[in-house]
Amino acid sequence: MAASTSINGGRCEAGEVHVIIGPMFAGKTTDLLRRIESESSSGRNVAMIKSSKDTRYANDSVVTHDGLKFPCWSLPDLTSFHHKLGDDEYHKLDVIGIDEAQFFEDLYEFCCKAADHDGKTVIVAGLDGDYLRRSFGSVLDLIPLADTVTKLTARCELCGKRAFFTLRKTAETQTELIGGSDVYMPVCRQHYLQSCNVLTGSPRVAFPLVIFFTCRLQFMYNAELEAFMVCYQLYEEFKQKRKAELAIQQKVPTLVVRLLFTHGKVNSLDG
Ligand SMILES: [Zn+2]
Repeated sequence: MAASTSINGGRCEAGEVHVIIGPMFAGKTTDLLRRIESESSSGRNVAMIKSSKDTRYANDSVVTHDGLKFPCWSLPDLTSFHHKLGDDEYHKLDVIGIDEAQFFEDLYEFCCKAADHDGKTVIVAGLDGDYLRRSFGSVLDLIPLADTVTKLTARCELCGKRAFFTLRKTAETQTELIGGSDVYMPVCRQHYLQSCNVLTGSPRVAFPLVIFFTCRLQFMYNAELEAFMVCYQLYEEFKQKRKAELAIQQKVPTLVVRLLFTHGKVNSLDG
């Protein structure tokens, strides 16, 4: 016997809300697509929505970092979805997938109405936290509404352990900065905290990048303190010369390896 909580075109079905969260590169979109395709192949009507702010791969498709694709509605907000689709099409829908959900300001209201009132199954994928580990958009507001919550993890780009956080490699400080592996990398707690300790007091400079190379070198050459000191000196020099961002991005890898070479920590400058 089905619960009669819906007025979804006369269908007596309760809706559902499923939330998929995690850092960047954790496979959230892949998981969302897998669930949507599974619903579709079992005969349910599905639709996918993504934010029109995210134009990284394609405007009319949700695309994963590894190239999987699904057609979608690219919208500035969720409220306009019902109107754009039209009453008939909306009432026929069973399942709605929402990707990059952190960008939708009306996420909570939309999911509440779609699941509670319209009987839809809503599957939402998005970042739970931003690059400073603050709650991002209203994704976390959905948790009290949700049937299930799945937190996925990525691989730390510096040590290969499980990564829970997204580290920004550049100097920009706005919360919404669309980018891929050129701007962000997934990191474990240890490497997230290492970058934050050094970042304190110098938020405008691309210091995560310095930490990135420090950790890489530390890992490769076991030259922990020395590599760190070299990076720190370089950072101070660049900061004083007011060339911080660009100079660090372009010169640190070469200079650090060169300095480690002169300190006898690296045997070759090749590569
Ligand atoms: Zn790590």
